[in-house]
Amino acid sequence: MKSSESKNNFLYKIMYEMTTVFESSKDPNELILGLKQVFKTLGEIKDLSIFIYDKHSKTLKNFAKMWENLPENDETKELLAQYKIFEENDKKEHIIKNGAFYFPLFKQKKINGIVKIEGIPDKTVTENFMPLLTRQVSLAVVHLKYFENVKNNARFYETVRNIAKITETQYDLSYILPIMGEMIDSFIREHLIYIFLKNKNKKEYKLIWPNKCLINNINDYLNEIKENSYLIKDDGKTCIFPLTDGAKITGAIVAYNPLDVLNKNEIEYLEQLTSQASITVNKAKEYMKILQNATLDALTGLYNRHQFHERLNQEISNAKRQKTDLCCIMTDIDFFKSVNDNYGHAIGDLVLKTTAKTIKKELREYDIASRYGGEEFAILLPNTPLDEAKKVAMRLREKIEKKKINISEFKIKDKKEINVTISIGVAHYDQKTMKDPEELYQKADKGLYIAKESGRNKVIVSE
Ligand code: GH3
Ligand code: MG
Ligand code: MG
Repeated sequence: MKSSESKNNFLYKIMYEMTTVFESSKDPNELILGLKQVFKTLGEIKDLSIFIYDKHSKTLKNFAKMWENLPENDETKELLAQYKIFEENDKKEHIIKNGAFYFPLFKQKKINGIVKIEGIPDKTVTENFMPLLTRQVSLAVVHLKYFENVKNNARFYETVRNIAKITETQYDLSYILPIMGEMIDSFIREHLIYIFLKNKNKKEYKLIWPNKCLINNINDYLNEIKENSYLIKDDGKTCIFPLTDGAKITGAIVAYNPLDVLNKNEIEYLEQLTSQASITVNKAKEYMKILQNATLDALTGLYNRHQFHERLNQEISNAKRQKTDLCCIMTDIDFFKSVNDNYGHAIGDLVLKTTAKTIKKELREYDIASRYGGEEFAILLPNTPLDEAKKVAMRLREKIEKKKINISEFKIKDKKEINVTISIGVAHYDQKTMKDPEELYQKADKGLYIAKESGRNKVIVSE
């Protein structure tokens, strides 16, 4: 760089390239990649990383992985030491140490991070250009952090909405809570999430999701929580948010990370997610009460389990009185869990609805079809001998297997339709041997069990 004109040209070119990088980067990784390219034109540069200081945990965080902690090693200590030097002297433009080049980052004139370059940039640049460069990179980082926050907020509102929406079709807590746990868990990625509910006697907490908790003193902590605020334990690594019914504690959502504290944003998010979760849980409990008195299953429109047992008793007295045949079919969708796992619960629900509809269509008006549990259906066939019931079951099995379920509206890549199979057990009511009405469906259930054990997508008649 001899003449001042060519020096200016050079600086102009670099500045121009930098601006292009800042304008086109949509996430931290793109920014870092772009900066690395620009710095490579300034000398032997091997790597470039950006670190942001987190006031909450008093540590530096890798900007490319925003919530992730740095490993505890000499390199991290060195980094923090350089950061402290800049913090103590905000006039210092750069530091060169052990073959690395550091410069500070600012947010509203206060230092908030550090850039580390492995390799030493051109002297002309470092001497003439650092204040401007520091300003530019700082602005780009702040800008991207805001952008990430906006994206996070959007994800947050989507999660709240999804938690609120669960009760549109589901009310069974043992089903809702795991879904809710997964939603919150995928939102707060770096922490483990646990859901506890208080037992009926209102004394003990029971872990509902997932099936194991890694926090040693969790029961003591849970007993300390108050209705209206969260509780922080283990120096911020465990945080407990109470679920309430408006007045009393009904459970808790716990966030835990053995390595890291929750930051302020995450705590705020979790507070609001827990309050939405409380609303959803309370609503589900209310629904549950109403549905216990209702006759139909909300998702499929078939009779519910409670109503099945009512009708079982009625039909058995009819069969006894009128000396007619009565059969029972128990059926369960094969590998249904993998439908949920592969395509999501909304498609799982659609499969349940479609299966219910197909079953209903294949039966006579006075047959009684009910949703017995999650993906299990129980059917009563009044006035039907066993061989006839077997034919119905075989027809059901075949119709379900052939039924193509259109999932194109869910926009899953390369997948427009799916189908499932069912396993079936069939039993006939035997007045002489069966003392208790429940024995009829238990017998059909045995057939179902054998159908599952022997390969699924089958009809087994229990003799
Ligand atoms: P198998 O062939 O042995 O019956 O395997 P499976 O996967 O069908 O059986 P499993 O009992 O392991 O899984 C049943 C799944 O059904 C688990 C549960 O999450 C899901 N499920 C229960 N109720 C509902 C519901 O209302 N909607 C949806 N989408 N899934 C449900
Ligand atoms: Mg199943
Ligand atoms: Mg099942």
